[in-house]
Amino acid sequence: MDSKLHGLISLSLFFFSQIMALTAFFLESPFYGLGYAVLLPGCCLAIVFSYCAKCPVRLTSCGHVIVGKITTLLPPRKQGPYTDLDYLIVLTSLLSLILIPQFWLWEHTGLLIAFWVSLFIAGTEINQFVCPECDNTHCIACKKNKRINQ
Ligand code: SF4
Repeated sequence: MDSKLHGLISLSLFFFSQIMALTAFFLESPFYGLGYAVLLPGCCLAIVFSYCAKCPVRLTSCGHVIVGKITTLLPPRKQGPYTDLDYLIVLTSLLSLILIPQFWLWEHTGLLIAFWVSLFIAGTEINQFVCPECDNTHCIACKKNKRINQ
C-alpha cells in the first residue's frame, strides 16, 4: 500500500480519536465541548506551524498529503533544523490532545477504548509505513536520515 494512503489513514484515525474525545467533553457539558472544540484546532495548527511549516518536503511529498498544504495558509517559516522551542510546542500540543481528555473519556468506556485503539493504530501506521518513506531529514524521527548517518 502506498505510504501516502497510510498517511491519510493514520490522519483519519487520529481525528477519529479526537472526535471520541470531543464527544466525551460534550457529554459532560456543552461548555466543556466548546472549549475542546477551540483547543483541538489550536493545538493542530500549533503543530503544523512549529513542525510542518519548516519541513522541506511539505509541498512536494508530505507523508500526510494534506497537512503540508495547510502550511501555505500560515505565516511562512524558514526551512531548516528544528529548535528546542519547535519540539516543545509540538510535544506540548500533542500531549494536551492525548492527556487532557483522559479524565472525561474514563467515564465512557466505549469512547475510551475507541480513542486508544484508533490512536494506537494511527501511531503504528505512522511508525511502520509513513516515517520510513518520509524525506523530511530535519525530523528527529526521520528514518532516512538515520540510514544516511550510519
Ligand atoms: S512530511 Fe511530515 S513534517 Fe513534513 S509537512 Fe508532511 S506531516 Fe509535516
